[in-house]
Amino acid sequence: MENIFVLKFLFLWKTECVLCTAVDEGCEHVHKVVEQVTSMGFPCYIAMLEQVMALQPHLPFLRTQEWKEMKHTVDENLRKKFCELFSSCKTASAQQDLHDQLLQTVLKQCAYSLGFRKMFLGDNSTTLSVRILSQVALGRGSQLPARVHFKATSQNVEVYRPMRELLENEIIDYLNLQNITVPRPPTFQPNCTSIASCTEEFVRCLQKDFPATIPTIFRTGDKLVSTTETAKEHDSSADSFTNDDFCALCASNLDTEKGEASALNATVVSQKYSSKRPQEILQQNAVPVQECSKDPGGGMCHCARGGGGCGKTEVNVDQKWEMAKTVEQCLCYGCRVTLRDLADTGLLPAKVQAAVAEQKQRKIMREQIQDFLL
Ligand SMILES: [Zn+2]
Repeated sequence: MENIFVLKFLFLWKTECVLCTAVDEGCEHVHKVVEQVTSMGFPCYIAMLEQVMALQPHLPFLRTQEWKEMKHTVDENLRKKFCELFSSCKTASAQQDLHDQLLQTVLKQCAYSLGFRKMFLGDNSTTLSVRILSQVALGRGSQLPARVHFKATSQNVEVYRPMRELLENEIIDYLNLQNITVPRPPTFQPNCTSIASCTEEFVRCLQKDFPATIPTIFRTGDKLVSTTETAKEHDSSADSFTNDDFCALCASNLDTEKGEASALNATVVSQKYSSKRPQEILQQNAVPVQECSKDPGGGMCHCARGGGGCGKTEVNVDQKWEMAKTVEQCLCYGCRVTLRDLADTGLLPAKVQAAVAEQKQRKIMREQIQDFLL
């Protein structure tokens, strides 16, 4: 179990390693953390966050002397895809949220592939208070129980948070008393301010003057339960929940089936009429007539305006639009919000796209046999 406990720090370091320009410097930080962990007698596994882009998860490897001497063990192709995905995020909040979801996915994948069915995380009440407020702002309010409660089950792995009752300061003081030097775990830092970073600054500033701030937020957030979770607990039939009930990106229970008289439906309708249609995007991205290869003379092709011709731009935009809509149907509300700030859904991890394709196929099959079901 200790292996997984330290893994989170490694991922965070590794993320820095991937995203920062000074790769060597990032690797040095990873080595420092690994040295610290192994010096305390814990076996230490290492995995890369970029592996989330691969269709099949890679097995984390045990820290050995050989690894110590290795510099770059990252698959360049995966690294490139990973960087493209994060570069395509239009906002820092989307970048941060996507990073958090992928980190959780890789942690659970690694735990599962190593044969662990229980995973202990080092979340404390300070980080959880920030998470409670920021997750609500990001549209993930229904997922709070899974992200805050002492125990939550996701992707066949039970996640525990044994230190959630402690403040960050208390943990740091304890480590100092025990003469344990732990390199400060770095967090993912987008270039500009995100909702999560603003929330963290707000909560920490408030805590300085009002020490009851964090306990109050934490206790309040801890009482919240999801109606989906409650329904699941009361449902005696475990088979009633299929893969289609889970988000393809973050694996949370889907919270998007709320009926017509719901705030979610009102938001969807509003977005439907206020967002740009493919035709409008086409007009914005239209290739100037004189640049069209099919009509070098210019003037008659109109290919980019949906009027015929080569139709290349039209197909690409339509395909992207359709794909984004298909992916959106398989995501929870929070992931949909993040997806809206992603320039191209085709850059999402291969496993997410495979899950979307599978859900789409199941939906088609269900519609086909609908009339024959008893
Ligand atoms: Zn999701």
